[in-house]
Amino acid sequence: MRIALAGIGKIALDQHVPALAASPDWDLAATVSRSGSVPGIPAFADFASFLAARPDIPAVSLCMPPQPRFAHAEAALRAGRHVMLEKPPGQTLAEVHALAALAAERGVTLFATWHSRMAHAVEPARAWLTGRRIRSARVTWAEDVRHWHPGQDWVFEPGGMGVFDPGINALSILTRILPAPLRLLAAELEIPSNRQTPIAARLAFAGDVTAELDWRVTRGQRWDIEVATDDGTLLLAAGGARALVDGRLLAEGPNREYARLYARMAELVAAGRSEVDLAPMIHVADAFTLGRRNRTDAFDW
Ligand code: NAP
Repeated sequence: MRIALAGIGKIALDQHVPALAASPDWDLAATVSRSGSVPGIPAFADFASFLAARPDIPAVSLCMPPQPRFAHAEAALRAGRHVMLEKPPGQTLAEVHALAALAAERGVTLFATWHSRMAHAVEPARAWLTGRRIRSARVTWAEDVRHWHPGQDWVFEPGGMGVFDPGINALSILTRILPAPLRLLAAELEIPSNRQTPIAARLAFAGDVTAELDWRVTRGQRWDIEVATDDGTLLLAAGGARALVDGRLLAEGPNREYARLYARMAELVAAGRSEVDLAPMIHVADAFTLGRRNRTDAFDW
């Protein structure tokens, strides 16, 4: 099936284009971007012109930052196209609820993706935890924003979520592998004096579940989730690529997150279904509601 990619920037070029090139289900038939393009693929600079010119392309995948995502998704759904959303699926929960309702009304697929849930060891971790009693869980998501988001000011603007842009990946895994829903009790947000969104955050959930998110870590970056149970401790490491139980390897594999996302999108379209799970984003919204704000050092690239 033909698909168009809109917002040709870092993640589109790093992951979406290679995943589509290798996909047995999809044919990248157009790009829409004000400045980016993909060699050999018809390129549009404007989304409305694309929708008008290419009714033969039934699906679009939106890779721009969350702030402009809703307007693009709404226009695509109104034009009867299936829509795949990068994470986070929008700036606000209400936006995504509105898109889900519109997709249902128009009879098309809306897929709010969580790429980290597709990491190799996430499902084995979930299976291992099923039926075990959880004592505590510790998330450590520590990385260098200058390395992963060079010059991307949108992450520090309202709607950009700051450190929750990667942190929501941890929450997407946590909400998938833990058997019971999470409930935030308290949060602390470290916000640079010259920015709008946090550069670090600490979250405390009911049931002794905590998360430390930090964008200021240049050495010893980590994307780990440790879950203690009454029957051993699971470590889900490297962003979900590797799982160990009490130090013994449970699962490890290559990064096929985006291949799996596009395979899932193909299944959803074929089945005439949508998939929109807002659990990770609910906890981010709760952190902004409950969080104590601490002003910290100014941040510049
Ligand atoms: P990016 O490179 O800064 O932006 C992607 C593209 O979106 C830009 O090249 C731009 O293309 C378009 N865009 C930006 N602002 C726009 C606006 N106001 N209106 C219309 N188009 C706009 O961002 P990214 O790193 O690819 O991230 C995009 C999304 O992917 C985010 O939601 C992020 O959380 C997610 N993601 C990123 C990564 C990563 O490693 N960076 C990993 C996984 C998921 P044009 O200017 O050419 O239109």
